[in-house]
Amino acid sequence: ANDTMEKSLESKFAALKSQGLQIDLTRGKPGSDQLDISNPLLNSQVPSHSPSGVDVRNYGDPLGISEARSLGASLLSASAETTLVGEQSSLLLIYQLILSNYLFGLKTPWKDQADLKFICPVPGFDRHFRLLEDFGIEMLPVPLTGTGIDLEVFNGLLAEHENIKGIMCVPRHSNPTGDIYSDENLAAIMHAGKAYSDEFLFIFDHAYLLHDFLPSANQTPTWELAQSIGADDQAAVFCSFSKVTFGGGGLSFATAGKPLFDLLARQRASMIVCPDKVNQMRHLEFLKDKEGVLEHMVKHADIVRPKFEVAFDALDVLSPAIGNYQKPTGGYFISYDAKRPIAKRVIELCKELGVLITPAGSTYPHFHDPLDSNIRLAPTFLRTEDLKDAMEVFVTAIMIAHQELD
Ligand code: PLP
Repeated sequence: ANDTMEKSLESKFAALKSQGLQIDLTRGKPGSDQLDISNPLLNSQVPSHSPSGVDVRNYGDPLGISEARSLGASLLSASAETTLVGEQSSLLLIYQLILSNYLFGLKTPWKDQADLKFICPVPGFDRHFRLLEDFGIEMLPVPLTGTGIDLEVFNGLLAEHENIKGIMCVPRHSNPTGDIYSDENLAAIMHAGKAYSDEFLFIFDHAYLLHDFLPSANQTPTWELAQSIGADDQAAVFCSFSKVTFGGGGLSFATAGKPLFDLLARQRASMIVCPDKVNQMRHLEFLKDKEGVLEHMVKHADIVRPKFEVAFDALDVLSPAIGNYQKPTGGYFISYDAKRPIAKRVIELCKELGVLITPAGSTYPHFHDPLDSNIRLAPTFLRTEDLKDAMEVFVTAIMIAHQELD
């Protein structure tokens, strides 16, 4: 029976190869149909003055115009006084927050301390790892469980290590696993981090806060939770419009406890006189308020959902004996875990068949996936026909690589 299966996989491989596919499944970016729904931004008339009378064409208001700060605050369930509007990238704001702690800190600059460490949920977002690596911060991986991080491992690391400066995590539709952290998990993280040190930072990257495409688990707004626990002075929450309107053309938002907020604002003031208030005004005209943003996100969900369903249908053909994935209900990724150490081989096979997949290891600090088993798939950018082909290639490659180890 094995021989027959091997034969049929071989002929399948040959048939797929003869198609000469050229498909890129690596990019977690919106499809052009998604970008189209924000096209009114391209042609909008932007008033020269904000409703509160600020001339958006000029310098000033380094933290953003008040209406944009209020919009960010309402999305993050926070106060506008400690919410700022940055440029287009929330990653930049996170970088600046780390930089400000590194250079100045709330008590002692991190640069004057030895052996800096950070807790990193895995599989995770490669740019978080890269950012921490830039500062020479050691990354301590903690596995995700489906509803947040493994608390036993987390608490073990806190007990074992000194000078852990914080955790950087994506509480909703985590990239790439799709984890929605439960309130219990987030509360436990904050309680333990607070008990560990009053300088332990909670960096919540809410990149996919608004990006549900299927009914999703309820979650208390992270900022409210931080406040109720009294962890807000150690917490910062970020989100952006990169996958709401245009990549690199949206707005970014940060909320933080007062001391951290002031530290970030001070650091930013050395770099930039003020953000693009014209773009803030343009977004306010287009999206109006939180309601408007949520309505807009329904349009994204309706475009994205069928693509994820194509990917789910393809993956569901694979037996759980070969590998697993958790169906995300939002976000931009699917995280596949093979049972055997075949991630590198699968990606190589896909490449041979003309399908590019994110390099194996990308979802781990220093590209080191200890089991060589995790693969990140990004279905949104492709046209449906290409996605179907790419998924067929992926599934075939998984089966071949799995069988090669028999
Ligand atoms: N954070 C996460 C978890 C992401 O997946 C992404 C984009 O892929 C970003 C941040 C980047 O966001 P921004 O464009 O606002 O910098």
